[in-house]
Amino acid sequence: MKSQPLTDFSHVEKQINIDFERRWEDKTLKGWDGRLDNIEEVLNNPLYCKTCRKLFSNDHTFVHHLSGKKHKNLEKNKLKSE
Ligand SMILES: [Zn+2]
Repeated sequence: MKSQPLTDFSHVEKQINIDFERRWEDKTLKGWDGRLDNIEEVLNNPLYCKTCRKLFSNDHTFVHHLSGKKHKNLEKNKLKSE
């Protein structure tokens, strides 16, 4: 990351938003239009990981996700905090 003068935080915030949106589109949400008005449906979707709060587009990516480091770490942390 390039160092920037920290006088304009709105600029940084904008950059974070763009970054987030890009990831959102790239990774997990293909096949889902991203709207949250169907939140119930999403939560009941068998391809939704409740631990990571992510919805996956197919079995393969979901199963792959469940065996991933990121998911396992989150799950561990979750168990610890409960
Ligand atoms: Zn997960």
